[in-house]
Amino acid sequence: MKVPFSPPDITEEEIAEVAKTLRSGWITTGPRTKEFERQIAQFVGTGRAVCLNSATACLEQTLRVMGIGPGDEVITTAYTYTATCSCICHVGATPVLVDTLPGSFDMDPQKVREAVTERTKAVICVDLAGIIYDRYDEIFQIAEEKRELFHPANERQEALGRILVMADAAHAFGAEREGRRCGQIADFTCFSFHAVKNLTTAEGGAVTWSHAVTDVGIDSEELYREYMLLSLHGQSKDALAKTQAGAWEYDIVAPYYKCNMTDIMAAIGLVQLKRYPEILRRREALIRQYDAALEGCPVEVLNHYGESHRSSGHLYLVRVLDKTREECNNMITKMAEAGIATNVHYKPLPMLSAYKNMGFDIQDFPNAYAQFANEITLPLHTCLTDEQVRFVADTLIMEMG
Ligand SMILES: *Cc1c(COP(=O)(O)O)cnc(C)c1O
Repeated sequence: MKVPFSPPDITEEEIAEVAKTLRSGWITTGPRTKEFERQIAQFVGTGRAVCLNSATACLEQTLRVMGIGPGDEVITTAYTYTATCSCICHVGATPVLVDTLPGSFDMDPQKVREAVTERTKAVICVDLAGIIYDRYDEIFQIAEEKRELFHPANERQEALGRILVMADAAHAFGAEREGRRCGQIADFTCFSFHAVKNLTTAEGGAVTWSHAVTDVGIDSEELYREYMLLSLHGQSKDALAKTQAGAWEYDIVAPYYKCNMTDIMAAIGLVQLKRYPEILRRREALIRQYDAALEGCPVEVLNHYGESHRSSGHLYLVRVLDKTREECNNMITKMAEAGIATNVHYKPLPMLSAYKNMGFDIQDFPNAYAQFANEITLPLHTCLTDEQVRFVADTLIMEMG
């Protein structure tokens, strides 16, 4: 039995919609992308959504929209994928990494508090594995406490008057906590539709913003227009508007970037979004099967479904108790030999060359290191059968010895 880690779940319906788009005469950003944005905003429960070609682009352009750049500091967690942090580097700001809570994958809020300086402009939280970070309240509280330290550099920062709270929700589209959908909690929330994510457009991402942003007078339509400019060369008209007969003329307001979503991607996304409630249900069923199969084993797993939260069920992280990284790596090899693809989420950023070269040292992140040291991620996707879940769990249990 071959069990891939996370193949895309594509049906004939997505294929038909892509073919229809290809035949429609309009393949780049156009009606399907706009419709996908409308439906995402509706699903998330926010006023507006912007679709770009990745979550990374969404994170990066959000920092730019808020005027965050050189001289500014942005705080994030050491326990994440590089994109949460590289976006900070892309805009020329300085990343400040903090450790996780002891025995947890969650960024330590007290360490965030201690990391705030006069230059801090934003905190990027991560909704790991599809579970909404459960310390947003405390992060917002820190932003309030530190208002005095905050030096706004433009109108939007002045309107907000505090540190910006962002969510890297690449894993968490559709997750909920305390009755709120992911997208309604942080000021700005960035989702990924990369091929391995819950909902895919092959490559793609979306950003939404909460009422906290609009309540202070930051205009949604202006934000939307700014994302459009940033993602399409700073061009005053998009390609569709330009093709209207006689409407050739445009301006370039600044030498901006190119990271728009195409209608081909949106076509996949529209069908995936329609299927998404069923996808979330299936992921929950798979997680409950893993949970039941591993009950009583010397492992620690995440709590995806609780009293006040519902995960999007993106990743099944397992910590194999009392095992070293080397022993876990041997288990990964043994499982691969049995046909099962597993993964590790994540090797903490301070262990990667890019961040070591910036001066980060894993010694300063002992909790993140301990989380990584015995972590194995099991396959979790909607092409997985019940039988495969049993096989994966049985093989893991056998290899644990
Ligand atoms: C996948 C992922 C990203 C990047 O998403 P892209 O759409 O590929 O840019 C960012 N953060 C986390 C935690 C991810 O897993």
